Amino acid sequence: MIKNIKQILKRFHLFSMAKKSYHFLTKAKKNIYNRLFPTAKIILYHRIANPENDPHLLSVSPENLYLQLKFLKENFSIVPLVQIVRWIRGRKLKNKTVAITFDDGYADNLHHALPILKELNIPATVFVTAGNIVSGKSFYWDVETPEADRGRPMTGEELKKLANCHLIEIGAHTMSHPKLKKISQEEQEKEIQQSKEILEKVIGMPLLSFAYPFGGLDSFDNETINLVKKSGFHYACANIHERVTNRSDIYALPRYVIRNWNLEKFKEEFNKFI
Ligand SMILES: [Zn+2]
Repeated sequence: MIKNIKQILKRFHLFSMAKKSYHFLTKAKKNIYNRLFPTAKIILYHRIANPENDPHLLSVSPENLYLQLKFLKENFSIVPLVQIVRWIRGRKLKNKTVAITFDDGYADNLHHALPILKELNIPATVFVTAGNIVSGKSFYWDVETPEADRGRPMTGEELKKLANCHLIEIGAHTMSHPKLKKISQEEQEKEIQQSKEILEKVIGMPLLSFAYPFGGLDSFDNETINLVKKSGFHYACANIHERVTNRSDIYALPRYVIRNWNLEKFKEEFNKFI
């Protein structure tokens, strides 16, 4: 009987040793892997509002934005987009880093998102569709949305205010938000080049970054990338759901779209971003 107990304990002890070694090795393997292949994440918001109807699922409520960003701030290093680009150039990307971006240029980016970004001291890049800043007209995908639920583009004055905050980088997002790959080279060039010139004039600063409208692989190609480079942009964002690595193309940076998730759902989705 005693012999049996001893044997069991011995076996148990060995079992726990094996378990400890296994965990140690798994952790070491993960550390080595992370060091060899560091990754970062770039996330993408559109509207920051709480409309009753949101047919394109573009809105995140200010409450959820606050909780999502606070969680990221507490658990990751949030850096300006340009920092991620610098790291990629030097093959020195850092793990557990995140960059925040907003697309289209909705006025609520200034009125709802900026106060939260300021409170949490978080940098962000806002990609603006220049044609709507000039015309003041609703974005074409919003025209069918009831007016009470529709977000409006920023005015020139609002854009200037946003750009003057040290936390914000303004980038271009074409003139009229077309699928660039589907239009002629001349039209693409005009969309890209003009948006840069107009936005630079409005904010009085040079623009370094660009985001392809829609951003999927069906919305831009190498010809588009060459035109973006030719127009003087230093880097560009796509909308491909992948992590950033040291091998990422700085003219097609991958991003994850964020929806109006509460904190629990956000954590769950964010962990799934691979
Ligand atoms: Zn867009």
